[in-house]
Amino acid sequence: MQINDFRKFIQAENKRLKKRYSLKDDEKRILAKMVKLTEEVGELADEVLAFSSLQRKEKLDKHNKENLAHEFADVIICTFLLAESMGVDIEDGLKKKMKKIEKRYEK
Ligand SMILES: [Mg+2]
Repeated sequence: MQINDFRKFIQAENKRLKKRYSLKDDEKRILAKMVKLTEEVGELADEVLAFSSLQRKEKLDKHNKENLAHEFADVIICTFLLAESMGVDIEDGLKKKMKKIEKRYEK
């Protein structure tokens, strides 16, 4: 998958979400996306706990590696949806952050 395909998906999904939910303004849409991201981080935490066998048996029985991958994807998608809604160029932010992190190890 190319980053361009992902960006198009995010833009299309943001349009679909805007149609589906009747939130009146951008501020509410942004707050709702932040809440959704938090929910997805919680779901990822659930899967990470299961991965480390730190869940109740009922939850461990449902756990599989595919769920873990899906929850990572949910967090990434929600992060990009939120950034897009706020006009944040997350790709540029990633490039700059990667350079900053790499510089730490150059010394
Ligand atoms: Mg999820």
